[in-house]
Amino acid sequence: MAVPSSLTRAAPLPQASAPAESGLDPADWQAYRRLLHDAVDIAVDHLAGIADGPVWQAMSPEDRAALRRPLPSVGTDPAALVEEIRTGVMPYAVGNPHPRFFGWVHGGGLAGGLIADLLASAMNANLGGRDHAPVEIERTVVDWFRDLFGLPEGAGGLLVSGTSMATVVALAAARTRLGGVRVRQEGLAALAGPVAIYASSEVHGSLKKAAELLGLGAAAVRGVPVDAAFRIDLEALHALMDADAAAGVRPLAVVGSAGTVNTGAVDDLDGLADAAQSAGCWFHVDGAIGAVGMMDPAFAPRLKGLERADSIAFDAHKWLQMQYDCGCVLVRDAGLLTDTFGERQAYLAGAARGLAAGDPWFCESGPELSRGFRALRVWFALREHGTEAFGRMMARTRRLAAHLAERVDDRPDLVRLAPVDLTIVCLRWVHPGLDDAALDRVNQAIVEDLHETGIAAPSTTRLAGRLAIRVSISNHRTRQADIDALVEAIGALGRLRGDQERIRAAAADAG
Ligand SMILES: *Cc1c(COP(=O)(O)O)cnc(C)c1O
Repeated sequence: MAVPSSLTRAAPLPQASAPAESGLDPADWQAYRRLLHDAVDIAVDHLAGIADGPVWQAMSPEDRAALRRPLPSVGTDPAALVEEIRTGVMPYAVGNPHPRFFGWVHGGGLAGGLIADLLASAMNANLGGRDHAPVEIERTVVDWFRDLFGLPEGAGGLLVSGTSMATVVALAAARTRLGGVRVRQEGLAALAGPVAIYASSEVHGSLKKAAELLGLGAAAVRGVPVDAAFRIDLEALHALMDADAAAGVRPLAVVGSAGTVNTGAVDDLDGLADAAQSAGCWFHVDGAIGAVGMMDPAFAPRLKGLERADSIAFDAHKWLQMQYDCGCVLVRDAGLLTDTFGERQAYLAGAARGLAAGDPWFCESGPELSRGFRALRVWFALREHGTEAFGRMMARTRRLAAHLAERVDDRPDLVRLAPVDLTIVCLRWVHPGLDDAALDRVNQAIVEDLHETGIAAPSTTRLAGRLAIRVSISNHRTRQADIDALVEAIGALGRLRGDQERIRAAAADAG
């Protein structure tokens, strides 16, 4: 029923121009506008000039101490705070917008993301639920991803902080399917016996964390051996599942990686879907890095089987370049999410009309009630650029990874430690005069030198016990010249640190 117009005319409202009484809003909106414009200039300068500075630099003890102030009881001029951030914080950030940031898997961020985040901040929307446009935007982007991955109409999900949280939500839904909604009331007793989750030994640590958090225990995660390409060994998987079945352990889920964190290996998702299907269990895909590769037509066939997943966890802040933080979980049977998380207390009651309408609410599909407006940056980026531009960017980063692999393979002082499925290249500086332990030290030193000089920021990992320099090309700003500069720097630093190792070894021998 509409509100009678006599009521809207009769209700007296305070003057819109009245000054903010709390003092927390600006006394002078024009001065605030100028300060915000200054902040925008600083943000644009930071981004536009990012390649000119070091990738990373250490904070001096004085700069660190300057940030560690006690809780202030009185305020500071916001213009002074903006200046403090410009000079004391921004130069010391992680550096992932820089074209030579190669560490872990960090996206570079998008210029358009600043626009979306600024406007989202102005709205300050809570997307736990209710009837408003921001919720409609999150529904839209969730549907876009569902369609991108080829999941059916009844699939749904929500945006979360990242794949770690997405994995918790997905496995909670899997737990509900196995144990029924009774699990919510009775806990794990409703599962009536031990269960197992199958994933390759290369699976991300967030799976173990999720198993711990859901009360299943880390021991429930079976680390299935991998083949020479670091992909899950399907025969070993079947053997493990058979042994567990014989021992009365029920399969909760088979988990495939669409890009492992160490080497970017893409598991045989179709084979894993078959395995899950024949065992009658859940098939989950950790697509943190690679699932969005569906936008790259040349890569998409590698993800065959993704469309058969019961759940997919993936990130928009990695290969898709969107600002932190933004992950997503999709579940084939969205009803399982509401079975798992749906329950609203009296203070969250819905309504037929007004702001409290808008069922279903996102808080019924995940553990969080208050939720920010991440969806706007996803919506903005995909509307601004379209999937084809992202697909071209992904193809470009894959070409750069192939270029790096070639450069490594061409040099006697570098060896590659894994095949390149995605955009991650694992390599090692080598010298015939040094043993593996010495080479570990040299390669560790090379990476620390690269960070401290600000030249580049790869990370490290261990493959077959050996320390690898791990180069993840997950930044849309990286150019071939950046890759070439990295190779030259690794070569030069390797010679330097390798010499030091040999001198040290000679001195130890002589001593
Ligand atoms: C990064 C990553 C995760 C964890 O995702 P977050 O967004 O950091 O929570 C899980 N799996 C893989 C393969 C990853 O690369």
